[in-house]
Amino acid sequence: MTGRFKTALCLLTLSAAAIPAAVAYAGVDDTEQSAFREAVKFGFTGQAIQGGVMIGDAPAGTRSLSFDGKAIPFDEDGKFIIAFNRDAGQAAQLVATLDNGQTVKKFINIAPRKWHIEHVNINRKAGTASESFKRRRAPELAQINAARSAMNDSAGWRQTFVWPVKGRISGMFGNQRIYNGDPGSYHSGIDIAAPTGTYYVAPADGVVTLAASSPFTLEGNLVMIDHGMGLNSAFLHSSEILVKEGQHVKRGEPIGRVGSTGSATGPHLHWSMKWNAARIDPILLTGPME
Ligand SMILES: [Zn+2]
Repeated sequence: MTGRFKTALCLLTLSAAAIPAAVAYAGVDDTEQSAFREAVKFGFTGQAIQGGVMIGDAPAGTRSLSFDGKAIPFDEDGKFIIAFNRDAGQAAQLVATLDNGQTVKKFINIAPRKWHIEHVNINRKAGTASESFKRRRAPELAQINAARSAMNDSAGWRQTFVWPVKGRISGMFGNQRIYNGDPGSYHSGIDIAAPTGTYYVAPADGVVTLAASSPFTLEGNLVMIDHGMGLNSAFLHSSEILVKEGQHVKRGEPIGRVGSTGSATGPHLHWSMKWNAARIDPILLTGPME
């Protein structure tokens, strides 16, 4: 490990906290809200935990599904995905409406995480962005939002995710700094330090929804992948992008090369993931790096 990688992290990133080894597991409440036969119930894999993802099986005969009051899609075989924001509250509710009009409800208890929070006795930088920055930023945000709202029929969301690149983790998801009591934004992804030019791959199948033609102000050369069902990945600071918008990519296929474009102090890959509006922790999809 060379010295330069010690600083390979986003400007918003804090020191890497240890992987939450003993994240409390909170499963799904066994109490069904209905007295239906055994087959008419939800099944799940994954953890109900802040920043986590669960793959579910809808009860037999499900016609529509909602999560905290919002309709969510499911596949022909009844499989669906839900995820929990970094700051998700303690409980969520799934409701399946069956063909016969009856409903099956499931309450989910969401385990809290202990985020790495650092209190510092300095003031946050004045938050007034210059007019020229705002002018450049607006179209970038519009592109990012358009990419996130893209809906492709990719089945990547059903796969086990792989690490896009391996290296020292220089910033964990969720880290946050509090400046004299004023909370800064938390780190929205995971940072993996690697030399400039290192290839990184798609962690799961998907469709490229954004391949920046020129570096974004903060993200640098940005790639975004839609894994289907509202789940997407963003890869920041690339030195080179190897894919085009609309391209279908397979898990393990190279999509870019690590760099330090945009707001970065050294070469690394910042990988962030969202499911709809929820920001989620990639490490909970891949498991620890081996
Ligand atoms: Zn980062």
